[in-house]
Amino acid sequence: MKRIAIIGGGVSGLFCAITLLQSENAPQVTIFEKMNRVGKKILVTGNGRCNITNENADKIERFYGENPTFPKYVLESFTPNNLIDYLAENGLILRKENDKYYPFSEQAGTVLDFLRLKCEILGANILVDKKIEKIIQRNGRFIVNNQEFDCVVIACGGKSSPHLGSDGSGYELFKSFNHTITPLLPAITQIKTENQFTKQLKGIKADANLSIFVNNKLIRRDFGQILFADYGISGPPAFQLSAIAAKNYNNNCYVSLDFMPKFSVEQVKKQIQKIIANPFTYPLKAENLLTLLLNKRLGQVIVKSCEININQDVYELSEAKIAQIAEKIKDFKLKVTGVNGFNNAQITFGGAKTDEFDSKTLQSKIVKNLYACGEILDVNGDCGGFNLQWAFSSAVAVARAINGENND
Ligand SMILES: Cc1cc2nc3c(=O)[nH]c(=O)nc-3n(C[C@H](O)[C@H](O)[C@H](O)COP(=O)(O)OP(=O)(O)OC[C@H]3O[C@@H](n4cnc5c(N)ncnc54)[C@H](O)[C@@H]3O)c2cc1C
Repeated sequence: MKRIAIIGGGVSGLFCAITLLQSENAPQVTIFEKMNRVGKKILVTGNGRCNITNENADKIERFYGENPTFPKYVLESFTPNNLIDYLAENGLILRKENDKYYPFSEQAGTVLDFLRLKCEILGANILVDKKIEKIIQRNGRFIVNNQEFDCVVIACGGKSSPHLGSDGSGYELFKSFNHTITPLLPAITQIKTENQFTKQLKGIKADANLSIFVNNKLIRRDFGQILFADYGISGPPAFQLSAIAAKNYNNNCYVSLDFMPKFSVEQVKKQIQKIIANPFTYPLKAENLLTLLLNKRLGQVIVKSCEININQDVYELSEAKIAQIAEKIKDFKLKVTGVNGFNNAQITFGGAKTDEFDSKTLQSKIVKNLYACGEILDVNGDCGGFNLQWAFSSAVAVARAINGENND
């Protein structure tokens, strides 16, 4: 019987074990996990609710890496629907919110319990408190922790949120086999910006279109809820754009917020003029000019950013000043100064270079019977269930390959 070592007991490692063990020719599987229990990161995903997948998580354009088409085969071979059906057949049903899926219980612990207990019932040998720092290759076999294996799967995750286990040590294992690690950046994290205004808005949430520009070129735009903080901005659109910010913050990089994306500048201007012509309070002061349109504090900060004294009467505002306010609502620029680091990041952008792996089996092209799955590879998805889907899909690809089920 084949003996398989899986290094890392996160989603990808656990699901790889389950898929291996559910096969007719199930091998012997040992999972080595460095923490005192498996799957710690799962518990914090989706704010404790685990956004397990997304209806668009088989769309290649929502994934990034040096070779953007690399994940295509794997994602299409085990799609979000395949995952949803598999889980449902096994009793774990999901609920859908917009395009995102969560366990019906709305508890990430449900997903962890399912994966951990399923591994146990199928007979996986789970060894915790076992950080693997060395893998020896001898006569075509591998020695891990003094035990011999036919195949090794490295599923150690990236280096983001290291307190949850993924400290980057998996990259060192790959390097010891002469694999290349592409440059690593924190991603799906908060964006640091000049903070004169964001400090004043600390704790405020506002829906906006967030666009990121590098050298005055629009790179990406995303809509959603922005959360202002001392250091800059957070919230789903900031997370989505954070890898671009991390790569380019030294490169004349700024974000622009559009707080009324469905209105043109001209329409916003007309709306402000209407408010001035029909005051809801008298005298109407600048501090209340935008109260009917936006979050009150946000409105005041926008007015202040146009160098207007918020105590002045709005009737004294020139046409040009009103136009400037409308433009600020549509294009509130903040210079990007960086991103929060790996400690706060949800994923790591970059990883084991995908050109060095077979795109169907995820087997190393350098070392036979060595595999990678999950975030350790240079495959990074958008925020919203994409990265967990990659962890599941890549786990299945590896397990099928080892079991001889997807070798063309
Ligand atoms: C706060 C937060 C929220 C998130 N929310 C979502 C979400 O809602 N939806 C989504 O799709 N994605 C989310 N993600 C991203 C997602 O959790 C990861 O992409 C996914 O868990 C990666 O799975 P993995 O198995 O590859 O790695 P990991 O989950 O990181 O697991 C790797 C495991 O390997 C172990 N390990 C590492 N090195 C060694 C070693 N040398 N020896 C032995 N064991 C080792 C680690 O302890 C860990 O248990 C979130 C991430 C964070 C941090």
